[in-house]
Amino acid sequence: MKSGTRYENLRSTLVREEPLVTTPRDWDELELQAHWFAGDFGREFVTTTGQPVRIVQFGVWNREAGPDFAEAAVSFDNGEPVRGAIEIDLDARDWERHGHATNPDYESVVLHIFTRPSGAEFFTRTAEHRLVPQVLLDLSRLSDDVVPSPPEAKLGRCSGPLRELPDEKAYEVLFGAAQFRLRRKAAALARLAELHGPDEALFQALAATLGYKSNKLPFTLLAQRLPLRLLRKSEADTLLFGASGFLPHDLASLESSTRTYLRGLWENWWPRRAEFERLKIDPPLWRMSGQRPANHPQRRLAALAQMVRLWPKIRALVDRAEATAIHEFFDQLKDEYWDYHYTVTSKTSPRRMALVGESRVIEMLANVFLPMAIAQDENRWADFKKLRAPLTNQRVEVAALRLFGEGARKKEYLKSVALQQGLLQIYEDFCLRDASDCARCQFPRQLAQW
Ligand code: SF4
Repeated sequence: MKSGTRYENLRSTLVREEPLVTTPRDWDELELQAHWFAGDFGREFVTTTGQPVRIVQFGVWNREAGPDFAEAAVSFDNGEPVRGAIEIDLDARDWERHGHATNPDYESVVLHIFTRPSGAEFFTRTAEHRLVPQVLLDLSRLSDDVVPSPPEAKLGRCSGPLRELPDEKAYEVLFGAAQFRLRRKAAALARLAELHGPDEALFQALAATLGYKSNKLPFTLLAQRLPLRLLRKSEADTLLFGASGFLPHDLASLESSTRTYLRGLWENWWPRRAEFERLKIDPPLWRMSGQRPANHPQRRLAALAQMVRLWPKIRALVDRAEATAIHEFFDQLKDEYWDYHYTVTSKTSPRRMALVGESRVIEMLANVFLPMAIAQDENRWADFKKLRAPLTNQRVEVAALRLFGEGARKKEYLKSVALQQGLLQIYEDFCLRDASDCARCQFPRQLAQW
């Protein structure tokens, strides 16, 4: 993976040399909390008074009234961990605005996290007037600022030098960018495993892939809020469908097979609904439009429930990370109801549908199984290179067009998962951070020295 190191060097030079013209992104509190729990901000911080803090345990999403995360453990000044809750707000003043300062449910808070300071000096205090340490989160760690307008779908300045590059050099640049991307994915998965254990990390990563792209956040939230260890001991489909808010109340007008299926879920969900009420996904978070019917999030949720049921097999697939075995497993994944239904209320389809389609399996290979394998053995890069991409998306199409224009090269590159990943990395590193219509982008100049 030498090209990956070369790309990393090229990228770090460019990012240092060229100030990025970006605007801060508006964060939603739920997105922020999901990133926090995934460890995307790290686990070492400094309080607003300069005290070092380490998050020893991130705890759990709180099911009760009160702070966002319960059962966390936090160490201050390298001391013994303090057990308690963590509250995350966008603005420091939300603590007072939302009445936490006088609410005894917040007495257990040991750390108050926010992304915007109050301006004036602000103390987080509980109902008993205990001072709570504060941490101001650095949003730039998510590197998710945005350029004022998205890059246009037109030929970019680097297309000239790229055209001059012989094929093997162009491959080397794209593979280098793909290897860099893979290493980052592997590092994120390793970090997740360190925070939550290897099984929970795998479960969260696979759930996010099933939600990709429109429903990545609700799938991530479900996997964080309903951990694998809980689902393995319960009726996974009941908890997943109940907490997703997908169970309809009115069953009268539905087909009898659908009513039977839903009654089974309701019977199990009814006694537990109060317990999980706070963890339910708000309906506006789900994106239902713009997807193929067979990819409806409800079908993907059913697939996740089946994966929980067959978890030991999923674990075995990770250990081997063989593409053929993974394809076979998902080909054989069945669900009596979901094999013939698009949604929880749709009519029975005469045709059986795969619970997880080929493109989703490739996404899981590219984003979870192979990055994990490559982290253990870099030679597995050879397997990654062989993955064929059944589909493209708008972002990768625009990236290919900007770098290579229309033509044979673009078509060829879009057929390979590794080359698509390389294109996406360059697009995110350069095109998405450029607000000069290519004029000040350093990528063309650096290409000459590749
Ligand atoms: S911004 Fe840079 S990388 Fe993107 S198309 Fe323009 S020159 Fe190429």
